[in-house]
Amino acid sequence: KLYNQVQDLKGSIRVYCRVRPFLSGQSNDLSTVHSIEDGNITISTASKHGKGCKSFSFNKVFEPCATQAEVFSDMQPLIRSVLDGYNVCIFAYGQTGSGKTYTMTGPKDLSEKNKGVNYRALGDLFLLAEQRKDIFCYNVAVQMIEIYNEQVRDLLVTDGSNKRLEIRNSSQTGLNVPDANIIPVSSTHDVIDLMNLGHRNRAVGATALNDRSSRSHSCLTVHVQGRDLASGTILRGCMHLVDLAGSERVNKSEVTGDRLKEAQHINKSLSALGDVIASLAQKNQHVPYRNSKLTQLLQDSLGGQAKTLMFVHISPEPDALGETISTLKFAERVA
Ligand code: ADP
Ligand code: MG
Repeated sequence: KLYNQVQDLKGSIRVYCRVRPFLSGQSNDLSTVHSIEDGNITISTASKHGKGCKSFSFNKVFEPCATQAEVFSDMQPLIRSVLDGYNVCIFAYGQTGSGKTYTMTGPKDLSEKNKGVNYRALGDLFLLAEQRKDIFCYNVAVQMIEIYNEQVRDLLVTDGSNKRLEIRNSSQTGLNVPDANIIPVSSTHDVIDLMNLGHRNRAVGATALNDRSSRSHSCLTVHVQGRDLASGTILRGCMHLVDLAGSERVNKSEVTGDRLKEAQHINKSLSALGDVIASLAQKNQHVPYRNSKLTQLLQDSLGGQAKTLMFVHISPEPDALGETISTLKFAERVA
């Protein structure tokens, strides 16, 4: 809980890791995860080439048995800081099937217990705003957009329109995609309706064979404006909750055409994101925001006093070992 107080003025970058449980009731004995202790995770790299282990350290590592409530409670201080006027970015990173959408949204059958971060974050903001209502008057509004092949699209349309949108950096209003719908919300009920709309729109682009959601980035942006009732001062904060495209490398000899183009766009934007966060972590003078739509979109919310959480996800199966190691190396680089 000290997190906000200690880091308040500096902005910060944190890295969390979550290990998905085995899905089909397989025994955890098969897991590539050898051990988890505090923020350390050790992976067995045993293969036909011999035995081995590799360890990585992060701010927090969640075991396969961690609940949605536990995961959220660790992110809560960060999320709450939006009401104090901070900009926050939370990224879910990992190969397809590693649990990114599970963390951010939840599974398909969404019970109260397994609701993901997006729902809990908004619920918590409403609750806290209510508790502060004698001091602040808060307005909360959301946008939901998708970046697919370096094109930005509004996910909160009701007329099926599929227009390409422009990114403009407008630090004044905080609206970087001014043409995307921005919808005021005041209850978890409103939020559920909007997320359902967004998920339906995202699925529209999906072909029968390929799940488009694994090959586009989706970003739920929560804009918060708080007016101090005594002084009239306005605080603005915003939070981007990003479910990234799958990080798996595709074999260039196996894919061609559209599929190859998608893969190249994803590679480019994920490495651009890694470059930006790594250069912020190293306090470099030059931060290469311009190299992808994703980093352009989030420019005002990455660096400076903004707070970033890179939340990487890994699958426990032995056949995912290569991707698991490359995910953890990505995370280590930005930590
Ligand atoms: P991604 O979005 O990274 O492609 P998903 O979130 O869709 O992965 O997860 C893949 C499958 O694993 C889904 O069926 C999901 O419900 C399940 N799953 C992921 N993480 C967990 C978890 N922590 N506990 C239980 N099931 C999970
Ligand atoms: Mg997903």
